Parts: sequence; C-alpha cells; structure tokens
Amino acid sequence: MPRRTVGPPERGSAPGGGLDLLRVPVLGALLRRRRVGQFALLAVAAVLVIHGFLGPQLAPKNLATLAVWVHYRGLLVLALLVVGNVFCTACPIMLARDGLRRFVTPRFAWPRALRGKTPAVLLLVGVLFGYELWDWWGSPAATAGLIVGYFAAALLVDGLFTGASFCKSVCPIGQFNFAGSALSPFEVRAKDAAVCDGCSGHECLTGAPATPSAPAARGCEMGLFVPSKAGNMDCTFCMDCVRACPEDNVALASRAPGVELSEDVSGSGVGRLSGRRDLSLLALVFVFGALANAFGMVSPVYALQRTIAYALGTTSEAAVLGVLFTSLLVVEPVLLLGVAAWASRRAMPGRPSLTSVAARFVHGLVPLGVGVWAAHYGFHFLTGLWTIVPVAQSAAADTGFAFLGEPTWGLGGLTERAVQPIETGLLLLGWLGSLMVLHRIGTREAPGAARAATLPWAVLATLLFAAALWLMAQPMEMRGTFLDG
Ligand code: SF4
Ligand code: SF4
Repeated sequence: MPRRTVGPPERGSAPGGGLDLLRVPVLGALLRRRRVGQFALLAVAAVLVIHGFLGPQLAPKNLATLAVWVHYRGLLVLALLVVGNVFCTACPIMLARDGLRRFVTPRFAWPRALRGKTPAVLLLVGVLFGYELWDWWGSPAATAGLIVGYFAAALLVDGLFTGASFCKSVCPIGQFNFAGSALSPFEVRAKDAAVCDGCSGHECLTGAPATPSAPAARGCEMGLFVPSKAGNMDCTFCMDCVRACPEDNVALASRAPGVELSEDVSGSGVGRLSGRRDLSLLALVFVFGALANAFGMVSPVYALQRTIAYALGTTSEAAVLGVLFTSLLVVEPVLLLGVAAWASRRAMPGRPSLTSVAARFVHGLVPLGVGVWAAHYGFHFLTGLWTIVPVAQSAAADTGFAFLGEPTWGLGGLTERAVQPIETGLLLLGWLGSLMVLHRIGTREAPGAARAATLPWAVLATLLFAAALWLMAQPMEMRGTFLDG
C-alpha cells in the first residue's frame, strides 16, 4: 500500500512543508476536541427541532427551515472548500451515538450485501427527491421531523451494528461530504513514514488502551490506516487516529485539492477508485444531482413539469418528478457518459468496456460538481446571510425573554447582482479543475494518446459547465427566506 508521507515536518508545519491545521492555535485544539463542536451542534439541533415543531409554521420565520436549508448547506459546502469535512467532525449524531453505546453494545456486523456506497447513494437520491416532492424547505415541522428522524435512524443503525456503519454505509450527507472533500485542501495523513514503519501497535487503526497519563483512545472506525490512507474518501475528520497515535504522528496536512481523483492509488479501507463502481456511482450522482437540484429551483422546470404531466395525463407530482429525476439522473448521464466513453476508449490501450471507461473518467467531473453545489448553495447562503438574525431574535422573544433584542426584519444579505460574479467564479474554478483532473486521468489511462482520450470528456465537462452557467443565470427561487418573490 502506498505511503503518502514526505519525511518529518519542520516545527509548526505539515509533512512536505505545508500547513498542519492541528498545529494552528485554537483551531487545532478545537479540531482535536471534537466534543466541543458536537455539543455546540447538538444544542443548535435541539433549538431547531423545538422551533420547528413549536415556532411559527412559516419557513422564512422559522429557525429550522432557515438554518437547515439556507445556512447549514451553504456553510457545509464552504467548509469543504476551505478546510474539509469538518461538519462530520462536529456531527452531533455521533455524540448521541457514543452516549447510546455506553448502555448498548452493538452485536452485529453490517450486512455484507449492503456494504459499499450504493445503498447510501440511493438514499442521497431519495433525499433530493423528497426535498422536491414534499417541499421540506417550506415546512418547519417537516424539517424538525427530518432532524429527529435522522438521529433515530443513526441510533438504530449504530445501536445494532458495530463500528461506524451509519457513517460509512448509510448517511447520505456523509457520502455527499466524502465526495465533495476530494476538493478539500487538507487531508489526514502521517507526518513521517519512517515513524509508522517502526510502529508495531498500529493504534491509529486499532485504538490505544488507557495509560496512567491518558484515557483509552478509539482507532479509526472507518477502517482507514493512516500511513496507507489515500485522500479524504471515508474520512470523517474525527481525529480519533490523532488521539490514538502514541507517536503524535498524524497531521491534518495541506495538499493539492482534487489530487486523489486522478491518482488512483489503492488507499487503506477504500481501495482504488477505478475498481469501485459504487464510488463511480457516487461521483455520478454528486455531479448530475448538483445540476438537477439547481434545475429544481429555476422557473423553466415548472414549464417542463407541466409538459410531462400533460404527456402522462397525470396530476401526480410524484409521477412527474419521477420522470424528471429518471431523465436527469439516469437517462441523461447514461447517454452523455456513454457517448464520451465510446469516443474516449478508442484511444485507450486494450479497449476497455464502456462502463469501465466511464467509471474511471467520471471522477474527473467531480470538481465541476463541487463548483455547481458551491455556486447554488452559496447563492442562497449569501443572499440570505443575515436573515437568521431577526429570526433568532424573534425566536428568543417567543420564549418571553427578548435577550437578543427586537427583530430587525429588514436584514437580508448580498444582492443577487453581487453574488452573480461569485457564482460564475465558482463554476469557472470547478470547470477548470475538471479539465485538469480529466487530463491527468487521460494521461494515466492512455499514456500515448492522452489528448484523444481526454477530449470527449473535456467536451462533456464544457457542456455541463455551460448548462450550469445557464441555470445560474435563471431567476432562482429564494426558498426559505422573505426574499422569495
Ligand atoms: S499509530 Fe501512529 S505511528 Fe503507528 S502507524 Fe498509526 S500513525 Fe503511524
Ligand atoms: S483517518 Fe479515520 S480516525 Fe482519522 S480522522 Fe479520518 S476517519 Fe477519523
């Protein structure tokens, strides 16, 4: 297995001379002590659930809908781009899960038939579908119910099954984070390969027993062995390995974003991307789901829905959305990836199957997918940035103690005009990132004809980029805020 380390770090730096976030004052301490973030987000979740069920049932005036669908999603994508999967670090569900496991010991291994990402990817599609069908963004009670349901599902799964079964094989948000964190600028890895070579305990994976000076520490529940781990796939940034390593040999180190998408090395607990069809499926849903989710917010979708309803002779929204989702997440990707793979494989040695070519190159579209998610969620987050303030003030006043002051309902966020260049910039970065990763994949897969192998995928990335630009130029619903107009 590969050793992705580059010798001992300088003081205060990461392997290779970059930045080790765990050594940054305050931030490093916060990341090491994930409980602080978990308790904070547990308190936030409790407030959202209470306000969602008992507060005003008008989405823009309720903390549950506003915080979840406008602020949480925007901050999550922003965090992925600036740091990494820190929302998994501070996931309050894992705090509840660890509390449960003080009393309940899971007895079963996760079923072999359900291993891999496919079930979780289907759940992710289900979440995107349910969001459109039941308008979760517009219902505080439904949003609060979702939060409660999410906790219940995680506790049920991890109460029955050992390890981090929910994170690894069920959680749709986690899979979204794993896919997006391929573009994150930081990664957990060993500081010094030589230290790991001399290590016999492998505590980062197996856990460390209690000593007179330190409590017992859990090893990596996701099955990632730090010295041979590659990239951010499956890494929840939980820092269990940091606490368990007796040599203090684990860093949260800076790196080139997206590098894991083209390297195709066999990483611990994950294997090779090219050998994992479920991870290719995750990449596909991540990219085409980004476009489908944005398409659901713009006015042309309503005309299309009416056309589908008329053609089917139905008034069932579920049936219409079913056709739309099948078109956008099955038919369209199969056709586009099929054509690109057909054109590309002619340049590839051994003429691999179309599925195999598509499974390798689809990872190159992930940077564009990140750009689309970031542009879309960034739009809602930035245009509704300050709307959380009056809603929090109003929620506080509803308790009888207006300790946050009178609601300042006039607060909004950046104007659409100001956000537009940011959206375009994010899409542009995503497109350029995809072109670079696709070129690297082409060079890897067809060393003698990289340009010919890459060109069809570059054309596809450009078509998707153009579609995303068109989508972002459409008037977009300001779901969940008073700015909806
Ligand atoms: S426990 Fe520490 S030193 Fe040992 S293999 Fe893991 S990271 Fe390396
Ligand atoms: S490698 Fe494992 S233990 Fe370490 S941060 Fe990632 S998920 Fe947690």
